[in-house]
Amino acid sequence: MVTPENAQWARRVAKPWRVVFVIYTVALVTGTHWPKLNLPDAPVTDKQIHLFAFGGLTVLLWSTRWLPAGGWLVGLAAAVFGVLDEITQAIPGLHRHASIEDLLINELGVVTALAWIWALRPIGGPPNRLRLAYRSFALSELALRPSAWVSLVLGAGLPAIVVGAWLLLGPDGGEPSSGGSLWLAGVVLGAVGAAFLIVTGLRRRREAARRDDRPCFACGGSCRGASFDQGGWGRCPTCGAVVHRGQWTAAPRLRPLWLVQAMGLAAREALIRLVIMLVAFWVGVVVILPDDLTITPNTVFAAALGGIALAGALAVGAYRSAEAQLHDEQAVRCRRCRNDLHVAPAEQGIGRCDECECPFVRVSDGSD
Ligand SMILES: [Zn+2]
Ligand SMILES: [Zn+2]
Repeated sequence: MVTPENAQWARRVAKPWRVVFVIYTVALVTGTHWPKLNLPDAPVTDKQIHLFAFGGLTVLLWSTRWLPAGGWLVGLAAAVFGVLDEITQAIPGLHRHASIEDLLINELGVVTALAWIWALRPIGGPPNRLRLAYRSFALSELALRPSAWVSLVLGAGLPAIVVGAWLLLGPDGGEPSSGGSLWLAGVVLGAVGAAFLIVTGLRRRREAARRDDRPCFACGGSCRGASFDQGGWGRCPTCGAVVHRGQWTAAPRLRPLWLVQAMGLAAREALIRLVIMLVAFWVGVVVILPDDLTITPNTVFAAALGGIALAGALAVGAYRSAEAQLHDEQAVRCRRCRNDLHVAPAEQGIGRCDECECPFVRVSDGSD
């Protein structure tokens, strides 16, 4: 349900990303079209820059919420941009050259970013969606807090910049070798890992801090004064958005073994998706590429990096759908002790396991 209030909230959340997107795009177009630009010797190759640059562009475009959240239009727009950006480099006077290899890597960056957007999408039925909605609400709130950004930069950004600069300028730096590239890939991976841990920690604290306040995910206002029907549904007193009493319930940690079992099916689906993608990519390369084109090692290395990131996205996607399955079944099978909860009573959408006291959310139909 879109009300003026939550449309306003969505705009507020998207606004910083829109600013970043515009600055990023201007910088990218300038960088790719600057006359006679020659990259200094560095352990990161031109191809890897293309991969990350267009992956970043895709994620930022998606974050602006200018296009529908499904991602297909975002992917199409970024893919077309990747083609235009490469073709326009052939404009005489710029002394740049358009290359099919660059173009392929641009598009691989877009596809990899799309795979991650797919892997991290809202997933599952109503109980899991409620859990995820609280997460993304807490994340949106964090993005508006300068202190969260300071923690992120100090914890992940600065160490990565220091190590990256040491690699670029240090005694062994300056050689665009694949060994240097591996190091740099390690730095990027380390920074992403550190950023993930920091954001997860801050997000958990934020969720816990606001739990008693019962924030409305549409407008951010408190729902402490809201009343709920027997199914647990109510409305936000501030903006009137539909809320569920279970949307603030803390989830217990899931046992890894259960996750592995639930992942069986999801992993098979992810594998099928990977095979389809590889076949499509192979057909695309064979049909589109001219016969006399030789692919350089730098392109192969960048393509391998993109392939690893793609496979990672599929693995994360499979893990998340297993997680979603267990959370969706929470009112049938206890998430902490596997107790059968079919007949366990729920009061206003929330019940407790009679074995271990773990709360569960039962989402009934009839939200409106
Ligand atoms: Zn509200
Ligand atoms: Zn239990």
